[in-house]
Amino acid sequence: MDRRRFIRTCGWYGAAALLGRALAARNLPPRLSRPPLDTPEGGLWAQCDRIEAQLRASPLLVRDEALASYLHGIVCRLAQEHCPDVRTYAVRTPWFNATMAPNGMTQVWSGLLLRCGNEAQLAAVLGHELGHYVMRHSLESLKDVKSRSAWAAVVGVVPIAGLAAVSALAAGGMAFSRDHERAADRIGLEVMAAAGYPPMEASRIWQDLLDELKAEQDWTGDARKQSILFATHPPTEERRKHLEELAAAAGGNDRDPGAGPLRQAIAPHRMGWMEDELKRRRLGESLALFTRLSQAEPEDGLARYFLGEVHRLRGGDEGERLALETYEKAAGLPGAPAEVHRALGRMHRKAGRADAMKQAFARYLELRPDAGDAEMIRSYLKEP
Ligand SMILES: [Zn+2]
Repeated sequence: MDRRRFIRTCGWYGAAALLGRALAARNLPPRLSRPPLDTPEGGLWAQCDRIEAQLRASPLLVRDEALASYLHGIVCRLAQEHCPDVRTYAVRTPWFNATMAPNGMTQVWSGLLLRCGNEAQLAAVLGHELGHYVMRHSLESLKDVKSRSAWAAVVGVVPIAGLAAVSALAAGGMAFSRDHERAADRIGLEVMAAAGYPPMEASRIWQDLLDELKAEQDWTGDARKQSILFATHPPTEERRKHLEELAAAAGGNDRDPGAGPLRQAIAPHRMGWMEDELKRRRLGESLALFTRLSQAEPEDGLARYFLGEVHRLRGGDEGERLALETYEKAAGLPGAPAEVHRALGRMHRKAGRADAMKQAFARYLELRPDAGDAEMIRSYLKEP
């Protein structure tokens, strides 16, 4: 079936009442074949191939076979017959983003993995990107060489071109069009539902991401200027409602969203990725993120420790009070890192609580006798 006929047959904007039936029967467009090199699409593929070669050699590539195969499994369940054309890479960069390039290179950034509350939310973002991929939206969006280069920068391996660059891309019309967004949302919902995920998780993850941006003190009301993902995928109220309507019509919202498997897959990396998150110095966003993670899993000592870190970095009397309270809670939870005891020790030392300081530092050294700062901590223990 050619693409035009496919669009006609499926009727992107058909009645919502028909959606439930379409979900079970969704057929994606046929697999994409490599376009001739002397065409604009062929040029774009070649550019993506070069970026992919760089990505494979990049220190930012997360080299964890179990994680890679877990992520690729999700992409394949969504992509159906397109699976052999897609390659999936986890990339260590703390911003939330996922991209599926025209040549099938799929990037999932650690900032997104850290933020997804469950596998269904990840599948929602990937399903949406798959929608752009199968419909070849990038090509339609990018008619000239200049915008192709800009687009390649977005899917590229540069950890982050910087928010200024992202804003410029958004201002320059890099965002997918409203029609493309609606089509990708619809395909994303359909493929995630067909793969057995509860479709309502799609609007939840987009809303969570937006709420984080709104929590930042320099929030301007324009998410496109503060997020790579939103620069190319403008979040609008109309869009959220559209997603919720699609999800309600699709049903299946009582299914297990798969929080456990995602947590297990990213477990070895969470601490490093949380440290990366703090290094962004977007403390309003980080506060919203770690609050959400701690609420979703009240027994998660690691997320709770980092929530304490955010309070400490925000500073002031209130920040210190909340940091102390949060560290103390984290210290009693499973998964809390040894660093929580060091953090407590420092706070007690600063406040002149010698006994509590010694107890906390002793616990830290017990857990981390070979820590790089062990000598310094031991010297604190000798203080009167
Ligand atoms: Zn999109």
